[in-house]
Amino acid sequence: MSVEIKNIGVLTSGGDAPGMNAAIRAVVRACAYYNIKCTGIYRGYQGMIEGDFIELGPRSVKNIINKGGTILKSARSKEFMTAEGREKAFQNLKKNEIDALIVIGGDGSFKGGLALLEQYNFPVIGIPGTIDNDIDGTSHTLGYDTALNTAVDAIDKIRDTASSHNRLFFVEVMGRDAGHIALNAGIGAGAEEILIPEEDLGLDRLLESLKRSKASGKTSSIVIVAEGESSGKNVFELGDYVTENLPEYEVRVSVLGHMQRGGSPSCFDRVLASRMGVKAVESILEGKKGYMVGLLHDKMELTSLDKAIKGNSKIEEDLLRVSNIVSI
Ligand code: ATP
Repeated sequence: MSVEIKNIGVLTSGGDAPGMNAAIRAVVRACAYYNIKCTGIYRGYQGMIEGDFIELGPRSVKNIINKGGTILKSARSKEFMTAEGREKAFQNLKKNEIDALIVIGGDGSFKGGLALLEQYNFPVIGIPGTIDNDIDGTSHTLGYDTALNTAVDAIDKIRDTASSHNRLFFVEVMGRDAGHIALNAGIGAGAEEILIPEEDLGLDRLLESLKRSKASGKTSSIVIVAEGESSGKNVFELGDYVTENLPEYEVRVSVLGHMQRGGSPSCFDRVLASRMGVKAVESILEGKKGYMVGLLHDKMELTSLDKAIKGNSKIEEDLLRVSNIVSI
């Protein structure tokens, strides 16, 4: 252990994700295991600026591994984006004798952590907690697996009503910049078409594909649409477009929305959170700073926060091909 660390701060920031509580639990208990203090910071960077801190021990995090959301609450803080805001936050870290920080959040939260590191050389380690899976340096972000299962479960239910009434459903799933949820949940739920930001299918091809589906004897269809898909139309406009051009279809639209962020984390996310929490604490104790812990080839690996933020995670191109084949 090259750095004297006596107290690690932990916060959750940005959009909440299932598994954040399991990660907090792992961080707190790893600190206890290594005989160091752990301080929880409420409401992300805003709570850091306001000095909203709480000491956490192993029993403070009992019965949370299975809970969605985050016991530390999450927030977005404009003030932390200014040097003055970070100065207030840093003074509170000093006042509470916190020596290092673990940030559980998405790329924006990592930018905040990097800003703190650059301004004060303060040790920061990130844990990727976001349902979008849009961070480089990890095959899975925390909450992604749970969000996928929630989406598949919901789409299965929509298919029941779609097939009973011979309807075409457009289902919007989360993913403004990344189509991971749409692509995987779409294949998992047997969707006929999947529209994602990374690929411009084109509206003509969508119509062609739906016509082919009908001609091949399908009586109901599901089209999965990522929030940020690239046609420039939102899911309701897409529904209207198909109604106008293919009047033989009875079209319905469903937006899954925030339900995808909530719920009890899957076993996969709980295990991932536990591994990431322990690795984050151990990395700090080894003197590492400015890294994110991630899962690569089933091992815990460190990637620089800078790279994690800049390098967008790519969708698996082969999944597009598989989707085309299995939706025939
Ligand atoms: P999600 O992916 O779920 O949206 P996120 O972590 O990307 O999560 P953001 O709202 O982008 O969420 O960022 C969370 C917080 O991180 C911001 O409210 C802000 O306080 C801080 N932050 C973001 N970018 C910066 C930056 N460039 N400098 C300092 N702080 C930042």
